[in-house]
Amino acid sequence: MEVYPGIHHIQRVSNSYLVVDEDIMLIDTGMPGNSSKIIDYVQNTLKRDPNDIKTIVLTHHHFDHVGSVEKLKNITGASVAAHKLDANYINGTKSRPGPLLLRTATNIMKMVSRTKPIQPDILLKDGNIIKRYHVIHTPGHTPGSICLYNPENRVIFVGDNLRQSKGGMIKGPVPKYTPDMDLAKNSIKKLGDLDIDVILTGHNSPITSDASSKLKEYLKTI
Ligand SMILES: [Zn+2]
Ligand SMILES: [Zn+2]
Repeated sequence: MEVYPGIHHIQRVSNSYLVVDEDIMLIDTGMPGNSSKIIDYVQNTLKRDPNDIKTIVLTHHHFDHVGSVEKLKNITGASVAAHKLDANYINGTKSRPGPLLLRTATNIMKMVSRTKPIQPDILLKDGNIIKRYHVIHTPGHTPGSICLYNPENRVIFVGDNLRQSKGGMIKGPVPKYTPDMDLAKNSIKKLGDLDIDVILTGHNSPITSDASSKLKEYLKTI
């Protein structure tokens, strides 16, 4: 569904977003097996060609966000962009810790075998701008976690750096999946200076109302 003019949200285990313009930027790909859902949305809801996806940006290397990247890159021919500090996890040089640890060994093998590592085409760093979105390096949840912020529409994609609690308030990343919580909190403090209307999270519902005041409330607690 369209969550903001020109930005579409596809929700499964994790969220993928399509920034639709003359071409399309995909933010996060979801779990393995998610590619058909995204391609179907592009073709049938947006009435666009999958090849219009020119860029796939990964907010971080976790499996539930990069699981369909290889498939989607093959289908669309898009360039894949990720922060340089997560690139070695995405290309398979370093093994991926995180949510996988909670699964059974069988599931791990099954899932891993369905995710082929790929080499990101574009290595991002703090301050880069990709389709009017500014890359903000927010390490802690992973070394190369990023947010993408557009000062023109005041929309920010936060990956797993922030999430919405059941009561509608903002919380930080899930501690058990976040190896360096202190670093993550310091990273989130960087967002306090931004003028933000909409926070598009990596899981559950995005925050489309009072985002700025909710973020300020959360920042008071860390
Ligand atoms: Zn994550
Ligand atoms: Zn996640």
